[in-house]
Amino acid sequence: MNTHQNQWSYDRLSWPQMKEVIGRKPQPVVAIPFGAVEDHGLHLPLSTDNDILEGILKETALRSEGDLLVMPTIPYGLDEHHMDFPGTISINIETCLAYVTQTAISVARHGFTHILIVNGHGSNQAITDLAARKCVLETGIVCGNTTINAAINPTLAADVIEKHRKGGYGSIAHAGEFETAVMLYMLPETVDMDKAERDMGQIKLKYFNWDYPEPTAFSWLGYWSGMSNNGVCGDASVATAEFGKLAFEETVTNFLELVREFRTIPIKQRVDHH
Ligand SMILES: [Zn+2]
Repeated sequence: MNTHQNQWSYDRLSWPQMKEVIGRKPQPVVAIPFGAVEDHGLHLPLSTDNDILEGILKETALRSEGDLLVMPTIPYGLDEHHMDFPGTISINIETCLAYVTQTAISVARHGFTHILIVNGHGSNQAITDLAARKCVLETGIVCGNTTINAAINPTLAADVIEKHRKGGYGSIAHAGEFETAVMLYMLPETVDMDKAERDMGQIKLKYFNWDYPEPTAFSWLGYWSGMSNNGVCGDASVATAEFGKLAFEETVTNFLELVREFRTIPIKQRVDHH
């Protein structure tokens, strides 16, 4: 086990192999996937956020020639607002923040200099931002946060979404056109398209919007069962495996570029001006 091809999985390395990877110049970026187990409509499994995270991260790492090392997914996130749907797992904000932060700091303590917390679930976003910041302040390394799920932030798949989405504004949000399509492409046996519905319970206001490309000027989120009948916010019914493949490929390509760019960020020394 000494080719980059099978050295992408952080915890599949032995400690001497890990020591070798830490000593490499340049080091790989370490990805910490942080997901959720929650309702995704009548047609998708509770594992959807984690499946998308893991599928895109694995493919990116396999193509990265050793530039990306992927940790096991932290599978449960901030999800109290989804607890009305059977099966959701809710971890409180403080525990999530502490857990993700301590994971990142552990990685940094072994000598890794560039860590990306990769979020797979919308409500984790503020937590990953703070966890990355806490890791930076405590260790001085470069720790950032991002997402590969366009339902959270469409940047990595924006071109494909703009050109190929069928559901129009609001179709992407949650368990909608993007997530359903990517699951149709990656794991078609887990999707029941006969039950895929359009459910647009999210509010659209002048200063508050949920979906690309409309900007939003404030954030707010209530309980999920108050805005969605079946768990979907978006349009799952128009999703296709073809759109999923395009979005998947675009995301993997752009994420690999992002990883390599992220790795170029230098660690600058502090200057005490007292
Ligand atoms: Zn999701």
